[in-house]
Amino acid sequence: MTESTYRIQGATGEWEVVIGLEVHAQVTSQAKLFSGAATAFGAEPNTQVSLIDAAMPGMLPVPNRECIRQAVRTGMAINAQINKWSRFDRKNYFYADLPQGYQISQLYHPLVGEGEIEIVLDEKNPGSSTKTIGIERIHVEQDAGKLMHDQHPTRSYVDLNRSGVALMEIVSRPDMRSPAEAGAYLSKLRTILRYVGSCDGNMDQGSMRADVNVSVRRPGEEFGTRTETKNVNSVRFVMAVVEHEANRQVDVLEAGGKVVQETRLYDPDRNETRSMRSKEDAHDYRYFPDPDLLPLELDDAFLDECRQSLPELPDAKRRRYEEQLGLSAYNAATLTADAETARWFEALLAEGARIQKKGDGDVAKASANWLLSELYGALNRLGKSLEDSPVSPQAGAELLALVADGTISGTIAKQVFEIMLETGDSAPTIVEEKGLKQTSDTGAIEAAVAKVLADNGDKVEQYKAGKEALFGFFVGQTMKAMQGKANPQVVNELVRRALS
Ligand code: ADP
Ligand code: MG
Repeated sequence: MTESTYRIQGATGEWEVVIGLEVHAQVTSQAKLFSGAATAFGAEPNTQVSLIDAAMPGMLPVPNRECIRQAVRTGMAINAQINKWSRFDRKNYFYADLPQGYQISQLYHPLVGEGEIEIVLDEKNPGSSTKTIGIERIHVEQDAGKLMHDQHPTRSYVDLNRSGVALMEIVSRPDMRSPAEAGAYLSKLRTILRYVGSCDGNMDQGSMRADVNVSVRRPGEEFGTRTETKNVNSVRFVMAVVEHEANRQVDVLEAGGKVVQETRLYDPDRNETRSMRSKEDAHDYRYFPDPDLLPLELDDAFLDECRQSLPELPDAKRRRYEEQLGLSAYNAATLTADAETARWFEALLAEGARIQKKGDGDVAKASANWLLSELYGALNRLGKSLEDSPVSPQAGAELLALVADGTISGTIAKQVFEIMLETGDSAPTIVEEKGLKQTSDTGAIEAAVAKVLADNGDKVEQYKAGKEALFGFFVGQTMKAMQGKANPQVVNELVRRALS
C-alpha cells in the first residue's frame, strides 16, 4: 500500500491526526422536508416560506416522500443498512434563524445505519491503493434560516428560505488519518451524491458543507480530545482545516496544555480556525421524539423501487471500464470521477460503436484518449465544461470513425477538430470540403518517396552504412511532401521497400 503516512513531528516526538467528517447535504427535491414550499437556490429572501417553515402556531409537519426516498437511495449507494423503522426527534435550541425553537432531526433512530465509502489514496495509481472509510449513519433533518447583519445602520435580518429544507447528515467514523484522506473522502462522497442525484453537491452554494472533527494522538494510543470546525464549504478548505487544526493541537499539547472540546470556525482569508463556543453535548439539546410526527415505516415495495432506481455507481463503473472496456486504471478513474463525464463518454462510445458497427470495447480506448486529451484540452482553452461543449458526442464519434477507417490520419484529425470547434461543421463535411482525405494511392506516395531519397543522397548513404534512426526522417519528409494526407502505414511500407 502506498498510503503516505501523515505524521506531525513535534519537539517531543511524533503525532498522528484522527479525522471524522459530518457532512450536511441538501436533498434535491422540489419541496421542503415537511412543507410544500419551494427550495430553488438564489430566490429573493422570504419568498419560499410556508406557514410551517415560519413556525406559525398550529401548523403540522408532513414528511415529504421524495426527501425520504432520496436519503434511502443515498444509503443504498454506500452499502448502508436501511432502517425500515425510524423516528424524528426535536433538537431544542434557541436561535433567531430557527423560528420553531427546535430543529426536527433524528437522534435515536436514524433512517440509515452503518455503511462505507471507498477512497483512492494515490490518484495516479487508482486501484492499487484504496481505503474504506466507515459511515456511522445518515439521518434527515431540517435546515435553519439565515441571518444577515448590516453595519450601517446596525440591523439584522432573517431569511427563512432555507428554513425547513431537507438535509441529510452523513456522519463518518473517525477513520481518516491525513488531510489528503479527508479531501478524497469528501470528493468521493460528492461524486456518489451526484451519481445518485440526491444532492447537487454544489459546495459554493451551500448544498454540501462539512463539519470537520480533528484530534491528535501519539501513534497507536487512544483517541485524543477533538474539536469540530463547522460549515467548511470546499474540499480544499477541509484539507486546510485538518492541517491547521492538527498543528495547532500539537502546539497546545507540546506546551503542556489541553485541547478543549469546542466548536471552531474556519477563516479562509487568514487560513486559521478560531474558537466559536464550547461544544454542547447531546443532552444539552433535550432531544425527545417529535409528538407531531408518526414514526417512519418503509415497506418492501418502496425499498425495491429505491434500489431499482439507482444508477450504476462510480466504483462499479470504474471497474467495468477497466475490465470490460480495457481502459487504463487512470483513465477509468478520471472518466468516472463525475457523472456528467461518464455520461458523455458513454454517449460517445454508443455513437462510435453504431457508426463503426463495432462493440463498445473496440472503440473505447480511442474514445477515452480523445475525450481526455483533445476535447478536455479544447474545453479548458475555451473556458467551457462538457455540459456546454460546442461538440456533441455524435460529432466526436464521427471524427473518430474517420481515423479508425483510415480516411484521415491522427494528425489531420487534430486539424479537423479545430475547424469543427470554429465552424460547427461535421468532420465528414470538413474532410470532404478541404480535401483532407488520406491517400493510399501508392503511385503518388511512391513518387514522393523517390523524390525524398533523391534529394537526400547523403542521408541514404548514412542509412545504408547502419544509421537506422534515419528511417523516421524519410517517413517524415514523405508525409510532409504529401501534406500529411498519406496513409502512414503505406508510407512506412514504401520507404522500407525503396531503401532495401
Ligand atoms: P456530535 O454529533 O456531538 O458532533 P458524534 O459522536 O456524532 O458527535 O461524532 C461526530 C463526528 O466526530 C463523527 O464524524 C466522528 O467520526 C468524529 N469523531 C469522534 N471522535 C473523534 C476523535 N477523537 N477525533 C476525531 N474525530 C472524532
Ligand atoms: Mg457534530
